[in-house]
Amino acid sequence: MATSLCVYKYKEYLESVNIELNGAIVVGKSFTIDGFAEKPVRIVTHAHSDHLHGLEESIRYSKHVLASPITLDLIEALGYINSDLLPFFKLKSIPLNYHQVYVYEDEEVEFYDADHIPGSVQVLIRLKDKKLMIGYTGDFKLTSKTEIMRNLNVLIIEATYGNPYYNRPFKESVPQILLDLVIEGLCKYKRVYIYAYHGKIQETMSILRTGGIDAPFILPDRAYRVAKILEEKHGYNYGRYFKEKNAVFNKEKYIVFKHFNSAKDRRLDGKGLHIVLTGRLTHEPFMKVDEYTYVVSLSDHADFNDLVKYVEYSNPELVIVDGSRQGESEALKNTLLEKGFCSIVLP
Ligand SMILES: [Zn+2]
Repeated sequence: MATSLCVYKYKEYLESVNIELNGAIVVGKSFTIDGFAEKPVRIVTHAHSDHLHGLEESIRYSKHVLASPITLDLIEALGYINSDLLPFFKLKSIPLNYHQVYVYEDEEVEFYDADHIPGSVQVLIRLKDKKLMIGYTGDFKLTSKTEIMRNLNVLIIEATYGNPYYNRPFKESVPQILLDLVIEGLCKYKRVYIYAYHGKIQETMSILRTGGIDAPFILPDRAYRVAKILEEKHGYNYGRYFKEKNAVFNKEKYIVFKHFNSAKDRRLDGKGLHIVLTGRLTHEPFMKVDEYTYVVSLSDHADFNDLVKYVEYSNPELVIVDGSRQGESEALKNTLLEKGFCSIVLP
């Protein structure tokens, strides 16, 4: 199916949905998602900075800010809101649980689990006057927890790993590999350093605790604050952990989490094993890069096959691939067209 012809068929849908250059996903009369637009309701899918664009502007302009209870707590705890605006943020924010329905005039919002980071959601919007169902995945990972939005007129999908190059067929074996490497590191050196982005740190903490590792975690300040909130307010359990600054390093075995970007400054002094977590390693589940360092392929995004699988399961009439964020939107669109799905990239 040629792009222009199929899009022409659905051009009336494009009057109700758009992606702006600033990353705002604008749906219906009322909603802007993950970016600022002049709409009464701002929706936030999750607490990653590329989905928080213009949030302060939205707090000033919009009547409500809608997100999951965890996301609202994380936005505050991670300091994304200037203190002057914090009272307005609290006043305007509406926590919405999965499958609770929020109604604004004749338009409805419902959240689906995205299994990307704690609190992350997909957004389903029903435009009752136009009888349209529009879904936006936000960032997601395709697992048994992820809920597929079906019966959609329009699906808006992320494209972080939208190129066929980004497949990780071994991904289900990665948690066990990570666990084995950490156990090996603790036995050999007593210290294991893990480098990852926010979100993946929490996932790894859960993998290690579920896998029976009880060595204490040493966390950077932000990750510590996140862990506290998830434990105290949202029922997570991470066992023993300490803030980096307060940690007293004794002879005990321990696991130190660090931001991904500090991996380049790691000290290869034989006093610890270093594990760098990335979604970009695609040809094997892990790789030894020097005597003391492994790179492990752990991702919190759907890989290419999973992006395509999501579209096949969902089977929408029109697919809009988000081209406003980092990713490979054109490659994903082309594959979807080949498979017979009408798809375009916006903006
Ligand atoms: Zn994200």
